[in-house]
Amino acid sequence: MRRSLLDILACPTCKGELRLEVHEENEEEVLFGRLICDSCGVDYPIENGIPNLLPVELREKL
Ligand SMILES: [Zn+2]
Repeated sequence: MRRSLLDILACPTCKGELRLEVHEENEEEVLFGRLICDSCGVDYPIENGIPNLLPVELREKL
């Protein structure tokens, strides 16, 4: 995901702001990392450039 995407993403649970933690990136985008919601204390993984914004409850059912 591009870093600029962070401006339009919000926590799916509380609609709060997300904080980006980058583990690996190239010139264009973040490949691996986490999107962290400080309000909920939940983090959403970014894998192969794709942010997984499924709420935790749903994630475990899939
Ligand atoms: Zn939240």
